[in-house]
Amino acid sequence: MATNQTEQPQALRHQEVGHKSLLQSDALYQYILETSVYPREPQAMKELREITANHPWNLMTTSADEGQFLGMLLKLINAKNTMEIGVFTGYSLLATALALPEDGKILAMDINRENYEIGLPVIQKAGVAHKIEFKEGPALPVLDQMLEDGKYHGTYDFIFVDADKDNYINYHKRLLDLVKVGGLIGYDNTLWNGSVVAPADAPMRKYVRYYRDFVIELNKALAADPRIEICQLPVGDGITLCRRIS
Ligand code: SAM
Ligand code: CA
Repeated sequence: MATNQTEQPQALRHQEVGHKSLLQSDALYQYILETSVYPREPQAMKELREITANHPWNLMTTSADEGQFLGMLLKLINAKNTMEIGVFTGYSLLATALALPEDGKILAMDINRENYEIGLPVIQKAGVAHKIEFKEGPALPVLDQMLEDGKYHGTYDFIFVDADKDNYINYHKRLLDLVKVGGLIGYDNTLWNGSVVAPADAPMRKYVRYYRDFVIELNKALAADPRIEICQLPVGDGITLCRRIS
């Protein structure tokens, strides 16, 4: 394992290896990327991934293997009406837009339009921008407005939550009304850099420490929620799928 890693030029190695993968070996993760992910990655996603790699906050992007997983999942459930909270430059958004049918829809929300606009030309070139409605601003008030309107209850096939981890519980309270019975909510980063199992006094980057307790509380709350079935997958930084059952 060590030999393989040291022989591999740094540029070829996934920038998030060791941060986002739960696999014990970086080489094994690299193997998955090079064997099954990169060769099948749509050209537009590759382009957006490369553009995002130059962004100072590139650590926030969805990894290519998770993008592939999302695309497969959306097709399996025949998703048509979807929502994404936390867009950044749009890698998961593009994976979603490519997986939806021509008349599919994504309500995409982020407090930062600038980063969305970095990826937008790639999304437009891929011919899927018409599926996206982007709303700039905090997501919570938008959800409250939708609930108040009354016409959005039980209308979403899939909702991907990848934004402010300290609000996931607040999102969950609202999203459970907005997703269809039988529909899915995916909460991203539920293993939070592995910090969910770290001792409280372990050294951690500041932002990891800040959000850690929120993620731990979310995981407990989801596991105890009788309105959903759950499945926490070690893909990316951990994604918990919640299927609404009542
Ligand atoms: N899914 C994205 C991708 O594939 O690149 C990554 C999203 S990034 C991890 C988190 C995003 O959440 C940031 O772009 C940030 O601006 C956004 N965000 C933070 N707080 C938010 C809020 N209250 N409402 C909506 N978006 C928010
Ligand atoms: Ca994420």
